[in-house]
Amino acid sequence: MTAVDDKKMTAKVEPLRAVKGMNDILPPESARWEWLEEKMRSVLQRYGYQNVRTPIVEPTALFVRGIGEVTDIVEKEMYAFEDRMNGDQLALRPEMTAGVVRAMTEHSFLRDGGKRLYYFGAMFRHERPQKGRYRQFHQMGVEALGFAGPDVDAEVILMGSRLLRELGLVDGEHFSLELNCLGEAAERSAHRAALIAHLERHKELLDEEGQRRMYSNPLRVLDTKNPALQEMANAAPKLLDFLGEASLAHFNGVRAILDAAGIAYRINPRLVRGLDYYNLTVFEWVTDKLGSQGTVCGGGRYDGLIEQLGGKAAPAVGFGMGLERMLLLLEEVGVVAEVPTLHAYAIVPSSLGLPQVMVALEALRGAGVSVQLHPGQSSMKSQFKKADASGATYALIFGEDELAQGLVALKPLRREGGEQVMRSISCVADWASELLNA
Ligand code: ATP
Ligand code: MG
Repeated sequence: MTAVDDKKMTAKVEPLRAVKGMNDILPPESARWEWLEEKMRSVLQRYGYQNVRTPIVEPTALFVRGIGEVTDIVEKEMYAFEDRMNGDQLALRPEMTAGVVRAMTEHSFLRDGGKRLYYFGAMFRHERPQKGRYRQFHQMGVEALGFAGPDVDAEVILMGSRLLRELGLVDGEHFSLELNCLGEAAERSAHRAALIAHLERHKELLDEEGQRRMYSNPLRVLDTKNPALQEMANAAPKLLDFLGEASLAHFNGVRAILDAAGIAYRINPRLVRGLDYYNLTVFEWVTDKLGSQGTVCGGGRYDGLIEQLGGKAAPAVGFGMGLERMLLLLEEVGVVAEVPTLHAYAIVPSSLGLPQVMVALEALRGAGVSVQLHPGQSSMKSQFKKADASGATYALIFGEDELAQGLVALKPLRREGGEQVMRSISCVADWASELLNA
């Protein structure tokens, strides 16, 4: 067979593409993600929260029981499937609270008292992909489990607010906090009866889904973006008017702390959140900079969930923050990520000295310097071009003659008229600081 025949026989292979709504995060964008995650970790640490990691796949029943059967997530958005090997019903996690609660119970983790946890992770929801809404997306979230008082509700809200502000966002300009109190089960059911009566009086306004949900989940009928329903929703009986003394005391406790800390909020009686497990405090940080994907973070108290999932009853509160939306918002308002730059780029005119060069680079990295090697052989001109494009502060030029004398040239790339200096490659530790502090 000739080379030509060989070529004819290899049919062109169609490249595969990522699943719709699931994104690759590549450099330099990935550096913005790392910056965001590091900023967030530094805040979480200051509140004494610890990292938790749970599986991406869980039994489907966990989400059906945890999130609620009559919710968008469970009814329409969940990637649920059967394990081909054994027929188990499994799902990709659409959120992480249910998984964290399962893990706490499975490992009796609350035995010796409450836990304050945080996570970062990918979540999956089968939604229509658009800006700020994807089928695989990422959340940072916190869960404080085992604490009943309003102090911890306020703590997670203060922490969320600090996260946003330390990223460079301005309260009132780029985001605002909405707060509500959902009370307890008995209060919600009294309100629910009044609400159903109200919805029945306006039945003709509701679409088929609304009419179905009117009885199964009437609060969700109000949590609508449909402008035709706004007036009816605004006139609906308010849960806040059905709250008893204990719920009001809890709500006022949260508010007193936020007021003292100077955290602005708007009480939104219509805020119910899209998951069934919440009670008492619920909150969202919203922005008007991202169109209808305006919720960057949402959370609340879920005192009944642990017991509902088979664990020993314990109160809990938490929130989840969408990282894609955070990055979109930061970009929208012009916050620039601080991305680390390379200290140095190593230019190697001849391969003869490579072992010596690479040993020197190892010594530099050992001293904390970030240095990228020019790979393979190319002209000085093209190596300098790459050095410039790398964003490095210095070029390290390992010329053949200099190398023979144990020397390397340091050339500043970012400073106008910066002088080139010679340094000894056998005592890197003596001058590494010049690169680190440049
Ligand atoms: P929305 O009302 O926008 O659908 P949600 O109430 O479903 O949001 P939560 O379940 O509370 O959202 O999730 C917490 C956060 O995760 C949201 O505030 C948002 O920032 C982010 N988020 C939720 N769904 C998506 C998605 N499909 N793509 C990107 N981010 C998302
Ligand atoms: Mg949603």
